[in-house]
Amino acid sequence: MHHTKSNLIEIQEKIKNKIKDLSLSNYKPNIIAVSKTFSEQDIIPLLDYGHNDFGENKVQEAKKKWVQLKNDFKNVKLHMLGKLQTNKVKHAVEIFDYIHSLDNLKLATKLADEIKKKNKDIKIFIQVNLGGEKQKSGIDPAETPSFYKRCLSLDLNIVGTMCIPPDNQDPKPFFKDLLILNQKLNLAEISMGMTNDYLNALEYNATFLRIGSGIFGNRIS
Ligand SMILES: *Cc1c(COP(=O)(O)O)cnc(C)c1O
Repeated sequence: MHHTKSNLIEIQEKIKNKIKDLSLSNYKPNIIAVSKTFSEQDIIPLLDYGHNDFGENKVQEAKKKWVQLKNDFKNVKLHMLGKLQTNKVKHAVEIFDYIHSLDNLKLATKLADEIKKKNKDIKIFIQVNLGGEKQKSGIDPAETPSFYKRCLSLDLNIVGTMCIPPDNQDPKPFFKDLLILNQKLNLAEISMGMTNDYLNALEYNATFLRIGSGIFGNRIS
């Protein structure tokens, strides 16, 4: 068995056990296999196994790999996780089904324009900068409700919120903050939890886990 497939199966097992420990029936979080920097050779075993949700960080790289793969595997949903520049929106809207990194109004406006023009249905997460970190993207938590309203007035299909907690800190308080914010906005989806903390994210109702190195191995670049 290819290592990416066995890694995914192992992670699915851990998630199942954690959900059992938490006594949460009917809780089915989605795993996004974050394939950035990895090639078709490592992705195709997962597609053959029936996995459909994949994540990328760069528009160019995503197009290079996924135009063909999405043609071969029609059920694939591709998730944009990285910082999205407005000049890449046109291409992003062509290849991605979900965007997790909406973090400013200029981007929201541009996305709304392109989605309308191309008649797409793209599901969008607002990225929230819970740690108030200067080097990280995201809307300030206090400004997120008004930003969300602006997005609705642009007809964007906002399905949830997303966060990347600060490095080297307990992620749980941040996961909890995002859950509370999400409930306040009455949104269904929560994108949080990566290789090192996805089991913690399950304690706070994460619905999309973004797992890269745990499935594909360590990234070189
Ligand atoms: C790369 C990346 C991930 C996956 O990270 P791992 O630690 O390898 O699981 C998740 N989310 C975002 C936004 C990323 O850029």
